[in-house]
Amino acid sequence: MRTIFKFVVSLVNIAMTSILIRNGFIVTMNDERKVYKRGNLYIEDDRIVSVGEQVDVSSPEYVIDAEHKIVLPGFVNTHAHLQQYFRGVYELIGDFYKVNLPLEMYRRPEDMDWLGQSSCAELIYGGCTTTTILYTYPEGFARAVERAGNRVILGADIEEVNLDRLSEGVYEYLPEKGEEAFKRAVDLYMRWHNRAGGRIKVIMAPKAPDLVRPETYLRCKEFAEEKGLRMTTHLSQSRREVQQVKKLYGKTPPKHLFDLGVMDDKLTGAHCTYITEGDLQLIKETGMGILHCRAVTNPLTKWMDLGIPVGLGTDDYFHDMLQLMRQNIYAADVQERLGLHRFRRPTFYELLELATRKGAEVMGIADEVGSIEPGKKADVIIVDMMNPYLTPTMNPLTSLVFYGSSSNIETVIVDGRILKMNGKLTTIDLKSALLKAQRRVEEIINRFFEDHPDQRRLWEKRKLG
Ligand SMILES: [Zn+2]
Repeated sequence: MRTIFKFVVSLVNIAMTSILIRNGFIVTMNDERKVYKRGNLYIEDDRIVSVGEQVDVSSPEYVIDAEHKIVLPGFVNTHAHLQQYFRGVYELIGDFYKVNLPLEMYRRPEDMDWLGQSSCAELIYGGCTTTTILYTYPEGFARAVERAGNRVILGADIEEVNLDRLSEGVYEYLPEKGEEAFKRAVDLYMRWHNRAGGRIKVIMAPKAPDLVRPETYLRCKEFAEEKGLRMTTHLSQSRREVQQVKKLYGKTPPKHLFDLGVMDDKLTGAHCTYITEGDLQLIKETGMGILHCRAVTNPLTKWMDLGIPVGLGTDDYFHDMLQLMRQNIYAADVQERLGLHRFRRPTFYELLELATRKGAEVMGIADEVGSIEPGKKADVIIVDMMNPYLTPTMNPLTSLVFYGSSSNIETVIVDGRILKMNGKLTTIDLKSALLKAQRRVEEIINRFFEDHPDQRRLWEKRKLG
């Protein structure tokens, strides 16, 4: 009872209309890369009003003392899915075609009534104030976002192959499956685009050139153009995709999309692990963006130095942008030590920039979020440096990227509303959300194992070893 009372009190407390953050190490991520070592930030309603060494404020309703804290724009996670039910399974029997894709068939529209709050909790907890989420049945997740208060770009996955047969290496296209998926995407637009005070935007998301027929890509493009939406797709993610596209059309996946007329500056492609130099030129010419996920051996800095718009995406099983940034540094270090280093290592600042402002740019929302500037939406995170992992330091930003974790993110503000305060979520009852999600995940995985006893045996064996 006492817990419920405290939770209700915290829900009341977050409904403030003006916030002053004072004495913080403010990293604006603006054009001039301005940092205020001891700065103030004033928020009114959903917008940033002023930022600087001095700001004029009469009587803010809430004051956050940011002494020894870093104040940053919230992270823009450009590519993610809702796949918590893979955790504890995929790490042990990870096969994209035998486990990952077939498991997607076990999704049900009602799953998000169970998993939605825990998904939002994870994103908010880790400071992902904006996240692009692609999911087969995103309606339930949209409802969760509406309540939780985070910002999302939401895409209803469109793919049209028989996933069971694909696990055996056979591509069987099912136009009626594509038709249903397209209808779900249109419904999502009708019901949720610009909803929740504008925090939910919809994107068209044909899944990948080997999983979606050309006519469906064109249909998505036509709808996106008519409604002023952007498009995103997986692109050159696997060797199997490249082989299948070559077999069907005699081209690489990017050339296929270019010739179809869907590659432009409104399109983003996730991964691009197997692209050629020729593909890269097409991407550069058209202004298409690349969403760099966990394939950390990809030439990130080469893409950046060519002027290709790039964002970072956590992709699948957990959504920690600090961890993703760190993986990129480790990968560059390992390559260098092994003498394989072909591209320069990204700087700490560049990685933070990709995780904020550049992510907003590549998703076409930089006029609203991605940096701390007057007039922009108040999407802000505050990192507490007062812990032995981060302090002492001669450079708070390198400490943050190299040693920081989600638990160091003390405060998360979206649209001027505090969603995480003193390390605790304010709009989600975390324990209840996690226990509910755990129950549903067990059901999903058990259903999968019942149909795939060979995978269960493999999992049983490996989880003990
Ligand atoms: Zn993905």
